[in-house]
Amino acid sequence: AEKIDKDGQLYKVIVIGSFACGKTSIIKRFTEGVFTPNYKITIGVDFAEAQLTKNGKEITLQLWDIAGHERFGAMTRTYYKESSAAIIVFDLTREMTLHEAKKWRDDVMDKVLLPNNEHVPMILLANKCDLENQQIEDEQINEFAETEGFFKWFKTSAKDNIGIDNAMNSLVDKLIELS
Ligand code: GDP
Ligand code: MG
Repeated sequence: AEKIDKDGQLYKVIVIGSFACGKTSIIKRFTEGVFTPNYKITIGVDFAEAQLTKNGKEITLQLWDIAGHERFGAMTRTYYKESSAAIIVFDLTREMTLHEAKKWRDDVMDKVLLPNNEHVPMILLANKCDLENQQIEDEQINEFAETEGFFKWFKTSAKDNIGIDNAMNSLVDKLIELS
């Protein structure tokens, strides 16, 4: 349910990507400031909200967690409906998840349009940058992000709280720019 705050704006943002890339952990880190290694999805909770102030304006980011629907193709248009942006997450330690990010990106491009008929802005998060066994070079991510139309990408760690605030800030700037 979309709503406008008293003197602010609410944005629905979908967080997608393959299973176990850290989507739920990133949402939890950003909205609650914690990381729980064995965090289990709470069934029935679709989104978490974060309140931010930008240029003196109250902004609410409503982060939608696909919560177990990562099996590709199970996503419905309903889930994507009225979203203002997409965060696509992959896992730096599993190269396959970057290839899968392309499918998520295509799905978003197919199913979501802004009211002005433009595509929603997409940001790419390369998560688990705290781990040693990384499989993907920065150059590869750069190229992927550029080719596939992401407006920005960030290395993140939900575990060590790296990059997430920067990414969300950049996302909010983009949302404001487009509104
Ligand atoms: P989701 O399926 O995409 O929602 O992924 P989860 O948030 O459930 O995370 C999957 C697993 O990866 C869990 O065991 C998390 O504790 C772990 N995890 C998530 N983010 C990070 C991170 O930034 N660094 C490390 N080392 N582990 C992470
Ligand atoms: Mg999850």
